[in-house]
Amino acid sequence: MTGAIGKNNSDLTEMNRSAVVRILQQQEVCSRADIARQTGLTQAAITKIVASMMEMGIVSEAGIIMNGDNRRSIGLRLNADRHQIIGVKFARQMFAVGVFDISGKIYIHTETKYPFEEDPRKVLSAMKEQIHTMLKKYENVVSIGLAVPGPYLRDEGRIAVVTQMSAWHTINFIEEFKAEFNKPVFIEHDANAGALAEWLFGGHTQPLHTLAYFLVGDGVGAGIIERGRLFLGVQGTACETGHISVDVHGPRCECGNYGCLEMYCSAPAILKKVKERVPECLPCENPQSSDACIAVFEAARAGNPKAMDVVRETAEYIGYGCVTLINAYNPDIIILGDVVSRGGDLLLPIVQEVVRQRVIPELHTKVRIKISALKVDPTLYGAAATATDKVLQLPSKFSAAGKRG
Ligand SMILES: [Zn+2]
Repeated sequence: MTGAIGKNNSDLTEMNRSAVVRILQQQEVCSRADIARQTGLTQAAITKIVASMMEMGIVSEAGIIMNGDNRRSIGLRLNADRHQIIGVKFARQMFAVGVFDISGKIYIHTETKYPFEEDPRKVLSAMKEQIHTMLKKYENVVSIGLAVPGPYLRDEGRIAVVTQMSAWHTINFIEEFKAEFNKPVFIEHDANAGALAEWLFGGHTQPLHTLAYFLVGDGVGAGIIERGRLFLGVQGTACETGHISVDVHGPRCECGNYGCLEMYCSAPAILKKVKERVPECLPCENPQSSDACIAVFEAARAGNPKAMDVVRETAEYIGYGCVTLINAYNPDIIILGDVVSRGGDLLLPIVQEVVRQRVIPELHTKVRIKISALKVDPTLYGAAATATDKVLQLPSKFSAAGKRG
């Protein structure tokens, strides 16, 4: 029950199942003894939980494995292929749809571009058509995850402000998708989705406490995960780093604030600067903002000093964003993602220098800043991660047995 602070026995059982599947999701194959050690539950409890999950088709045995102490035991693994997920990324000028599973395996993904002025209903029906096609082909889809540009008002099911896309404010994504597909649908703000993708599918070998995913693309935002849980705020719009003032006397932003970070280092901001200062590097007369970013990164690498100036200025503002993230959330890692990652080699040293100069040494020496290395677009992967996280949270609800019940 929402808001309940007590736990019934059934909630506790599901929490323990969730703890087990989260371990298997990260480690692929594990013995019952290993899981008992990592969860702090007794071997007897694990044996019981695993038996119930095998019956539900969530986990299965995977042959003999060697334990850390050189003892042989039976391995367990998640039946990830029986828990496929459709991920949908919705962005300002494109949408992407893909099929994944809860282990992060990628089956297929497609990308569709559309012009700014396109009727939202047309875009939405094209998106739905692609999802129907994938649902027909992939029969084990248990849930659909959608990532949208923020701030996303989760109780209302709609996006509050999308710079340059006012026609989309009235679309209620939850209602649209629930009415169309007979599957549980989960929606997350793009930066939060990217953070979940990094947490679940990022393959980070060191254990993480607090992860900050810093999205710098058409919009600018951050997703923060502390010990596996997203930091959301009361309406789910926390960590809107892109709308923090970096110049309180700066120009007015569509959100109502002045001199927002997003106005200085987002892809549209880069496009504007490139048009003014280095128009010769643009691929065509009216390029998409992401194409302009890629073009200016290439020109800077080729030694164009005016292009390098745009890149340096952008990197400095990304650095100011990182300083805010470090001071606000004290993360052990900041991962830069979206279109800026394409200029990572140019941007990262400048970002790190800004952080070194502006954050106290006790903090900045503890935080790693890196570029996202995910196999697919972190926001699309994040859409899948959003639904995956729900499956991991309530595994029995998404199992074949759970669905029958
Ligand atoms: Zn703003």
